[in-house]
Amino acid sequence: MTTVFKFGGASIKDADAIRHLGELLFHLEARPDVVVVSAMGKTTNALEALLAAARGSDEDDYRQQLEALRRDHLTSVEALFGTRQGKVGERVEELLTELDARHRKHRDDARPRHYDQTICYGELLSTTIVSAWFNEIDLPCDWHDARRLIITDANHQAANVDWAETSQRLQALHGKRLVVTQGFIGGSTDGLATTLGREGSDFSVAIIAHCLDADEVVIWKDVPGLFNADPRRFDNARQLMRLSYDEAIELAWLGAKVIHPKTLAPLRERRIPLKVRSFEALDAPPSVISERGGDDPTPACIIAEEQVLLEIQPRDFSFMDEIRQHDVFGRLVDAGLHANLIDSGAMRLSLCLDTHPARLTPLIESLAADYALTRHGDLTLLSVRHPTQALLEGLSASREVLAQRGNACCAQRLFRSAECPETWHIPD
Ligand code: ASP
Ligand code: MG
Repeated sequence: MTTVFKFGGASIKDADAIRHLGELLFHLEARPDVVVVSAMGKTTNALEALLAAARGSDEDDYRQQLEALRRDHLTSVEALFGTRQGKVGERVEELLTELDARHRKHRDDARPRHYDQTICYGELLSTTIVSAWFNEIDLPCDWHDARRLIITDANHQAANVDWAETSQRLQALHGKRLVVTQGFIGGSTDGLATTLGREGSDFSVAIIAHCLDADEVVIWKDVPGLFNADPRRFDNARQLMRLSYDEAIELAWLGAKVIHPKTLAPLRERRIPLKVRSFEALDAPPSVISERGGDDPTPACIIAEEQVLLEIQPRDFSFMDEIRQHDVFGRLVDAGLHANLIDSGAMRLSLCLDTHPARLTPLIESLAADYALTRHGDLTLLSVRHPTQALLEGLSASREVLAQRGNACCAQRLFRSAECPETWHIPD
């Protein structure tokens, strides 16, 4: 039985959390073969800010941020190991020195390449501390560098996996001691770090499980599983106990922050079940995504805030036909944006997009040259999987709908955020 676990940033946010994780693994009836770990807490965001300072040539800001990262990690090392730090503290210092050197080397590179050489240190640092802690508590393990395990192309920030090479490298791990490695990062054959996209540790787990033909994957979270709505936004969200891969992919596509959308395909291909369990409540039954998903079409609701609606019209009173749609979508792809909702009319194409100024501004500039544009901001998109008319009416209340789309499987409605409730409720 081969099992792969993933622990996200929240489960290792500080020394206490790492201690808790060690205890959890130590007492578990069946231990995993591989443990994939994210960066501690909000480290990835801190590294993005560090990168911005470096690229803005703000040396003081850069130094301060580097020092804050150093302090945070060393505080955890100190709290965990006290005077018995051995090589851990030294290794953390070494990694930060290495990060600083990489900055000097890659500062003038294209941003995505520089990004990956910076951001990978969150996971390199966290796994260094976590693996040392496992060994300290007699949970023998080895630290492995994912830059040499998950081999990718050089498409930085959204690297594509070289499955054959990655399989070969991962299979060489079979039968070894517990493997502790980094989520989210990989390496290209030219020796540089690459990343798989934000929140990509889930995808890392799927890659590893696929290549090892694992029997089970467990993603550990601070909630007991997957829900039919975000429990922080809906007062009556319910846990979904069994889901098929297809259902989970549909939810991820609609923006449910359940699992990184790329995670499911590699698992589905090898029929590897994925459990989502709580590291806080070990007795709580997990949600399971597998081939044998439940048939129960529980409606699921997904809220996406900070949305923008772009209404795009040809200037010459002509149709928004396939040729024009092809043109608009081509520009959307070039801008690296995804339409969360598409609503069309004879002379209009309306796209609902995330508010992402760095990508949105160039898109709007490009479209404005050829089309008449209307832009609405501060919007909230509601997506409902397995909708009923009554449910949709109840959720919409009497708010104005700015754009919508619907079929038997899914309905979407776009509202002004100012008119939406703080806490939502799924009508019975
Ligand atoms: N640390 C990375 C992030 O915050 C990857 C992950 O957590 O999955 O995006
Ligand atoms: Mg994370």
